Formats: sequence, C-alpha cells, structure tokens
Amino acid sequence: MEHEDETLEEAGLGRSSQGTARTEVIPGFMCDICCDEGDDLVSYAMRCGHRFCVGCYRQYLGQKIKEEGEAARIECPGENCHRIVDSKSLDLLVTEDLQERDNLRWCPAPECEYAVDCSVKARDLRRIVPTVRCRCGHEFCFGCTLNDHQPTPCTLVKMWLQKCEDDSETANWISANTKECPKCQSTIEKNGGCNHMTCRKCKHEFCWMCMGLWSEHGTSWYNCNRYEEKSGSDARGAQAKSRASLERYLHYYNRYANHEQSAKLDKDLYLKTEKKMTSLQSASGLSWIEVQFLDTASQALQQCRQTLKWTYAFAFYLARNNLTEIFEDNQKDLEMAVESLSEMFEKPVPELAELKVDILDKTAYCNKRRVILLSDTAENLKNGEWMNGVFPGLLLL
Ligand SMILES: [Zn+2]
Ligand SMILES: [Zn+2]
Ligand SMILES: [Zn+2]
Ligand SMILES: [Zn+2]
Ligand SMILES: [Zn+2]
Ligand SMILES: [Zn+2]
Repeated sequence: MEHEDETLEEAGLGRSSQGTARTEVIPGFMCDICCDEGDDLVSYAMRCGHRFCVGCYRQYLGQKIKEEGEAARIECPGENCHRIVDSKSLDLLVTEDLQERDNLRWCPAPECEYAVDCSVKARDLRRIVPTVRCRCGHEFCFGCTLNDHQPTPCTLVKMWLQKCEDDSETANWISANTKECPKCQSTIEKNGGCNHMTCRKCKHEFCWMCMGLWSEHGTSWYNCNRYEEKSGSDARGAQAKSRASLERYLHYYNRYANHEQSAKLDKDLYLKTEKKMTSLQSASGLSWIEVQFLDTASQALQQCRQTLKWTYAFAFYLARNNLTEIFEDNQKDLEMAVESLSEMFEKPVPELAELKVDILDKTAYCNKRRVILLSDTAENLKNGEWMNGVFPGLLLL
C-alpha cells in the first residue's frame, strides 16, 4: 500500500495528504506569479508545496482548460513540477467558480432579451441534454445554445454537424419535391411533410424516403428507419468498405435532412390551411377557438420532426446492440405516428373540421411517443448504459 502510494506520487497522481483541499491565508506569503503579498492574500498549494495566490491559480487553470478542452491532466503551475492538479483541487478552484458564472445564458432567439438559468455542469453534458425553455417560448440546449437537439448529446451534435459539413459534397441531399412513382413512373409532387405518397395515376402507395411499399411500413418486419448492414463477405477490400460506410452515412443523413425539410413543408401547409380556415370559418360554423386544434397539431408536428431528425444523427453513432434496437423501435413508433398526423394535415380544408377529434387524438399520441422516446434514451444515457464498452460512438466523447 505504502509502495503503491509512492508510485502514484511519482506519477503525479498521489492523493492529497490533507484529505480535503482548501485555500489558506499564510502570513508573509508572496505569490511567485504576480508578486502580490499581504496578510489577507488567499493562496493554495497541493502536496508538492508550490503555493500561489488563488487568483493566479484560477487564471492558470482557466487558461489550460480553454486550451486543452479538458481538465484531466493539468500540471501544477510550479516550475518543472509535473504533479497533476487533482479533481479536489479543480473542484475547489475552478468548478464552483465557473458554475457561478456559467449558470446563465442569453436566449439565442433573435430579438429576445431574456436570460435563462440552468445548473447543469459541463462534465455532465455527455449524459444529459439540458433543454431549456425561455419565457419567449424558444426551446434551446443550455449546453451549446443550438435549437433543442434531444436526444443527442452536445458532443455528438457537434461531431455530426462537422461531418455533414465535411461530407456536404458527397451527400448533396436532393431537396427536389418531385420523384417518379416506382410503379408507373409518373411524376409525383410532395406538397406536405407526409412521406406516405399515393400516385394519382395508378394509386400505388409508397414511402417517399425509401420508395418501398407503404403497406409494409409499421409492420414488425419492415424497417425504413433501421440501417441493415450488408453481410461481411461482400464488404471486403478498401473500396467496398468505403462505399459501405458512405451508404451507411447516407441512410442516416437522408432521413435527418428529410425530417428537417418535412417540418418546413408541414409548417407551410399549416399556414396555408390556417388562412383558408379563417376565411371558411363562417361557412364551416367553427369559431376561432375551435380551429386552434390545427395550431396545436402543427406545433406537435414541428417538435416531433425536430426530435426525429436528431434521432437519426444519434443512431449514426450507435453500435448494434439491444439498447439500439429498442431505440429504433421507439423511433419507428414515433415516426409512424407523425406520418399519420402529417397525412391528416394534407386533407382538403372542408374535411378537416370533421377530423377534429381524430387529429386531437393523434396529436396527443405523437406527443406521448416523443416523451417515451426521449425519456427512455435520457435514462440510458444518464445511467451510462450505452457506454459499457458496447457503444463505440460514445466512447469517442
Ligand atoms: Zn498571484
Ligand atoms: Zn508543484
Ligand atoms: Zn427567448
Ligand atoms: Zn447542446
Ligand atoms: Zn403510379
Ligand atoms: Zn420508407
């Protein structure tokens, strides 16, 4: 035991002899960095005895953390001293200090002047997505101030956005709103967010995303959302491997981009519908309050598609395992619910009033599926379930 302590001591990882780290006022002390002295100068030293005033120590640590991005292996500021600043010292000198200044963020919404506070610690960001809601209604991530990106942790969001930027040429997502019917080849236009397409000419029903039969979506055997890895035998050789990895990326990227675009189409459609509803209000016999269910549904669609979008970025980093399967089942359930709500949205205005109860039910169901997906995922992330050696993506964090 004695021997082990010595070895750790030599490696700069020894335990602090005092047990708890604390700052002290030592009469006659002068700080070697700023040459300050005085009977009330608060200073700090680790076991190596290199003592500096707390102000200099903090500045040094703050600079190191900024430069190196993490605090795991910062050495004592003493000249030629390789002692590692232990976590107790860091907690004492940095964490509380940063926390005090870091629990407030300006809301990033344009023209919003509110600040939001939240007490999440930087080191917890790999396990928590701290979504906050400003008084103005804008929801954003407290960790990185981007729009709400649940369930994906900030670090993965950053990696994903970087990847999309790097690969933007390979992945030129075609935002065209027309495709050909896979059965009769006539041109089909997509004018709402819904991915359930019906050919006007031959009535063939298919999925905009994978072009597969719609009737098979939502069944247990069909997977539009899950990427099926090809068997290892046909992925030999560097070229085949890089093609396979591009294919895998495109699977996730296209679905990510599609939900983003669908959210826009859903919104456009809602705005058009709202206009028509208003003008039809007297004709339909519905009051302004009674048509608010469309607004509620539209907001649910926006929020669910935003979540779905990020589930695809998240899934890109997941390894194949049991938890991932459950995640994908949740993803599929939410996706099917969203598509069917989105489909109701595309109905002609006179039919919408009759669909009110169905739309309200479906809206509630979508919100419920979203909460289930997010809470399941958050729970597993928080418990570190995915990080026990079977989750290479998150091991990169
Ligand atoms: Zn000093
Ligand atoms: Zn030292
Ligand atoms: Zn705001
Ligand atoms: Zn974030
Ligand atoms: Zn057709
Ligand atoms: Zn599909």
